[in-house]
Amino acid sequence: MKHKIIDGREVAGRLRARVAKEIATLAEEDIKPCLATILVGDDSASHVYVRNKITACGKVGIRSEHYNLPNSVSEKELLRLIDKLNEDEGIDGILVQLPLPNQIAAHAVIDLIDPQKDVDGFHLINAGKLMRGNAELVPCTALGCLILLRQTFSDLSGKRALIIGRSNIVGRPLSLLLLHENCTVIMAHSRTVNIEEECRRADIVVAATGVPKLVKGGWLNSDAVVLDVGISRVETDAGMVLMGDVEFQKAIEHVKAISPVPGGVGPMTIACLLYNTLVAACRRRGLTVPDKTLDL
Ligand code: NAD
Repeated sequence: MKHKIIDGREVAGRLRARVAKEIATLAEEDIKPCLATILVGDDSASHVYVRNKITACGKVGIRSEHYNLPNSVSEKELLRLIDKLNEDEGIDGILVQLPLPNQIAAHAVIDLIDPQKDVDGFHLINAGKLMRGNAELVPCTALGCLILLRQTFSDLSGKRALIIGRSNIVGRPLSLLLLHENCTVIMAHSRTVNIEEECRRADIVVAATGVPKLVKGGWLNSDAVVLDVGISRVETDAGMVLMGDVEFQKAIEHVKAISPVPGGVGPMTIACLLYNTLVAACRRRGLTVPDKTLDL
């Protein structure tokens, strides 16, 4: 499997097909899961992300309701909307696109979302369940990374996994998922002294920092499997390009497998959001939940 590219689009396609099949089965019982999306302000990247999520929902048969709030909206008004959506029996998932403007405390918003509707998996209760090892709704990007790694390794047990980036959205939840898989997890971050040395020793490297080309190709060993989560928009001679955290062209010469940017982890994040919405819809109705081991 020398120089293998991990094709996130292909795996995400299989996951979406699996979700679509389950949604069609629910439709036979007159159940039509619905995701509410909330976007505050006019950040263009956030608009694109939310639009992509809504389109993806439509393609697998998940309904969506979108709320676009002005940048000046108060925390109180946003919390009132969350309350309303929590009470609404027709809503299965609530997604608040981050970041939020400064006048709003993101934690206050996230922790008001009904944990059963928390399809991003960021609520304190869901974070706690993930830590205890009985997670129900897992942060989408971290779950996407786990699924890609499961496609690549028949057994993750004992693998030395280096995660670069300790955010609550990606690095931290992924560290817990990989610990539950019996990996030896090493967390690196902006204060880590020698990331190069850590990279050389790792069987798995997940880079999630937003620092373009932070990880040099020559740092990686020939057995390494690399997931590049980072997405940065960088101005080059060829115009604006999307760039990952890993020096892809050099890394691919060294490693066993690597995910590209774009076309790697990104499509998995959206597919996992659809999966989480399906999970939330099933759980709320006491129905069997499709297994998150996701034998795709
Ligand atoms: P964040 O800013 O919350 O966290 C960045 C992390 O990187 C921090 O823990 C920080 O310590 C670490 N870091 C920063 N500079 C570093 C350095 N020089 N060396 C080592 N570590 C360093 O970011 P985030 O929300 O976790 O996102 C990280 C990246 O992943 C961004 O580019 C973001 O756009 C991308 N992202 C992609 C997806 C996807 O679906 N592909 C989803 C979420 C985030």
